[in-house]
Amino acid sequence: MDVTHSERIASLSTYPFAILERKVAELQGQGVRVIDLGVGSPTAETPAIVRDALKKSVDARRNEGYPTYEGMPAFRQACADWARRRYGVELDAETEVTSCLGTKEALFHFPEAFLNPGDVAIVPSPGYSPYVRGTLFAEGKPYLAPLLPERDFLPDFEAIPQDVAERAKLLWINYPNNPTAAVAPREFYERTVEFGRRHGIIVCSDEAYSDIYYEEEDKPCSILETVREGVVATFSLSKRSAMANYRVGFVAGDAAVIAGLRKVKTNIDSGMPTFIQEAAIAAYSDEGHVASMREEYRRKRDILCEGLKAAGLPECLPRATFYIWQRIPDSYTSVEFARKLLTPEVGVVVMPGEWLGDELKGGENTGQGYVRLALVAPEEEIREAAGRIGSLRF
Ligand code: PMP
Repeated sequence: MDVTHSERIASLSTYPFAILERKVAELQGQGVRVIDLGVGSPTAETPAIVRDALKKSVDARRNEGYPTYEGMPAFRQACADWARRRYGVELDAETEVTSCLGTKEALFHFPEAFLNPGDVAIVPSPGYSPYVRGTLFAEGKPYLAPLLPERDFLPDFEAIPQDVAERAKLLWINYPNNPTAAVAPREFYERTVEFGRRHGIIVCSDEAYSDIYYEEEDKPCSILETVREGVVATFSLSKRSAMANYRVGFVAGDAAVIAGLRKVKTNIDSGMPTFIQEAAIAAYSDEGHVASMREEYRRKRDILCEGLKAAGLPECLPRATFYIWQRIPDSYTSVEFARKLLTPEVGVVVMPGEWLGDELKGGENTGQGYVRLALVAPEEEIREAAGRIGSLRF
């Protein structure tokens, strides 16, 4: 039988990470010890308290039958309690918090609840792909707001044309930012909320990296500290507690917006497994493991940034996230630069910036001029990668 993909699926380019995975396999096939700093999949150990809570839950057989759609009350309360301790915000666990199966699915499904065909969603570029792809699947129109170094990688709301702002129903922001590693000051959240309110736009703030920062003075704030109305934030345990494989996160904010997302999700999934929720409750009850993880990322950041500097590249010390958004020499495109690190002598996989960016009308790709390195490999591998890169001269 001839299998034909739908037009929507056929129109999508291959998810870039899949291309990288193939390249890694190819080099490994040639016997190269490849160090993968491309896709940001954390290799840190999931804390013992989390694993123990999961095992206990399974053994107690609380997991038979379907879970609740929006997360069980104890999970939602643990999320709300964490948000109170972390940000000083009060959330009603009943109406203002909902679970998601990792935040990627919530980000992707979110537009389905709020966009009619042709409605605009304002999306940062470069940025995490589900904002655009979720918008396209909901038949909305993404409007790309470039994140430029001269604006500290914050979108310029004043540059958004009036007619776009009027047609927009959603605005995505993401700080600490993937891929630029930028942190947003409180004042930016205030400006964002003001822009959203002025144009009747729902703001969705992706705060997946909120707990991966390096200095106390850079500790990220949340959009939820400014206002609740018309605003939601998404939080993930993938990075904070090395639980990427568990697929667990939550969305919090305006109850009316949460209700819309819940309605979509009840049609898609049947809630988060109870044992995962119980593991997540344990994760949110402990900050010790998060502090040690930050220290580990800091050591890795310092080692790799030294290697990049030794290679003659401009200094790009991230203040948050586990990414380095490395400026590259003008003589290379980001793909060419990444390819240079993929020779068998170097064998380090990095993500070309242009794969994370978009071609803007009349301008170049918003990720051009950069590569992203993820500090996800174990420390010894990061040291090895720093040595290999540091032996190059740019
Ligand atoms: N937001 C951003 C900016 C990300 O980079 C990622 C994953 N890398 C996610 C959300 C999704 O994380 P998860 O689905 O594991 O919660």
